[in-house]
This record gives sequence, C-alpha cells and structure tokens, in this order.
Amino acid sequence: MADLSHYVQRFAKLRRDPAKGWPTVTRGKSPYKPLLLLAVLDQFEQGQITRNLIELSPDLGNLFDLYCATVLPEGMTCNIAMPFFHMQGEGFWHLVPLPGKEAFVASGRRLITESQLANNVAGARLDDDLFALLTVKEHRDVLRAALIDAHFDEQTQPLLWQRYATNQEAFLYSSELLAQARRQLKELQLPDAETSYTREARDQGFRRAVVVAYNHRCACCGLRIVTPGGHTAVEAAHIVPWHRTRNDHPTNGLALCRLCHWSFDEGLMSVNTNYRVLLSPQLTSHGNMPGFLSMLAGREIWLPQEDVLYPDPASLDWRNDNIFRKV
Ligand SMILES: [Zn+2]
Repeated sequence: MADLSHYVQRFAKLRRDPAKGWPTVTRGKSPYKPLLLLAVLDQFEQGQITRNLIELSPDLGNLFDLYCATVLPEGMTCNIAMPFFHMQGEGFWHLVPLPGKEAFVASGRRLITESQLANNVAGARLDDDLFALLTVKEHRDVLRAALIDAHFDEQTQPLLWQRYATNQEAFLYSSELLAQARRQLKELQLPDAETSYTREARDQGFRRAVVVAYNHRCACCGLRIVTPGGHTAVEAAHIVPWHRTRNDHPTNGLALCRLCHWSFDEGLMSVNTNYRVLLSPQLTSHGNMPGFLSMLAGREIWLPQEDVLYPDPASLDWRNDNIFRKV
C-alpha cells in the first residue's frame, strides 16, 4: 500500500509544462495541475467528495478559478480541462469514461476542452490509497503544504493559504445561511457577520447560497447557462442592500443573470410581492431598446425549489418603495 510520503513526493514532483512565459510566481512552469489539486483538496475539506469520483462540477470549477485568480495575472483564462486530462500522466488520477465512451477514452485522444471532457468522462478516480488518505484532515494538510511549497514562490505561498482559508470560511458561511433558512429562522443566528467573517468570504458564501437555492437560474428571465467547466451566468443580488441591514439571509437574495442584475441595481427592474416581474417605464423610454427584457413585465419569476428560500415580501416592498423607479 502506498503511504502518505509516497503521495507527498508525487504531489511535489508533478510534471509541469515549462514553456516560456509562465511567471516566476509559479516557478516558471504551468500551475494548473497543483491548482486543480488544491481545489480538489478543498472539496474534500467541505465534505463534497464522499465517493472516489472527482466530478467536473460548478463548485470544483469555481474553486479552481479562485485559485487561478490568486496566482495568475488578471484576465488570463483558465481551462480546467487541461489539468483534468493531463493529470492522468501522474499515475494516481484515472479518467472514468461515460457509458459507451470506454474505447474512445482508452484510445488516448486528447480531451482538452471542457466540452470534450464533459461529453466523454464522468470524472476522475483517484488511487484507492490516495482517496483514503484524503479523507483525513491531517493528511490533506501535509499534501496541501507539499503542493504549495513545491510549485509556488515564497511571496505566493501565503496567498494560497489565505485562499484556502477564505474558501473554507465561505463554504461554511453558505452552508449556515441555507441551514438556518431551512430551519425557517427569520433572523439569522450567526456570530456578528461583520467581525467573524471576512468580507470576501461573506460575499463568496452569500453568492454560493443564492446560486444553489435558484439552481443557477435567473429569477427574472429564467436564463440558465452553466459551462461544462462550471462557469455560471448568474450572480447573487441583495434585495435590501447589505450595507443597509447587513442581511445575508438567502430570502434577502435573488439569483440574477448579469443583465437582470444590472437592471435590478439600476432600479429598472424589480419583483413584486406576488413574485411577478416589475419593469420601470424608464426601461423603454429615452430611446432605450431593452430587447427581450420588455417581454418580462408581469411574468412570474423563477422561484427556488424550496419555499423556505422564496424572497421575503417585506424586503421586496422595501426595494420597490426605495430603489425601483416607478415612473
Ligand atoms: Zn436574467
């Protein structure tokens, strides 16, 4: 049986593309394999991986993006499919073909776009020994340290530890927000959210809770687009702005696509207490051409599956009196 020290070695010696152009922060080599493994370790930490199959989920894609944004220059695109596919070469990561795709995957064809991967594999299975080790926190800590120390320069290492801490905090915050809403608590019972959680963790946690509640669907227009790599078109909007009441209760949130979110923030769109879309007359005046938005007036919104997560009518009333442009 391969022990922890075996995998510490393997994690520290990941083969990484040394092509010119990688920044010194990643020791001049491609950072994607270690960043993907850090995201996978976070999913173990969050209890999201309970069987030996790493799936290309929105949560994994989001964690990978957050790690990429920590070490790479702004605007650099990250394709999770590259490390997900090439990790096979390390020997401990095995692609699991979808039914009927066994021969295609075994042929060794490169699956390096997100859709090639999503169309052909169910996920990746780890060596059984490695999977067993990753279920133990102490072992994960050792393996995380091996990844961070071996593949990133000294200035970047603390940033990755901070990223890990924020990811954990945000996940716990989102879980707590949803759990309290499901217990039908009207007022959140959290330690003072402002002092106990960093702003970044709160934002990330609130966003996750609301996006999960609405299953990635825009409440106002119904749009739902999730890329195979886990990028989603929706964002989380506060109904009563956070700075007013410090209220991250999921019922003070709406999942909205970027255009609906912008319109909502501008007071051009809202939702009434019968859960129907309100459009401001300003949306269609002044030569505006709001396209499909103009067809949403009076339409029922897309609500979460669980009624305990429905938007709070009192918050909607407040918004419609204070922010929505009625005339
Ligand atoms: Zn929308």
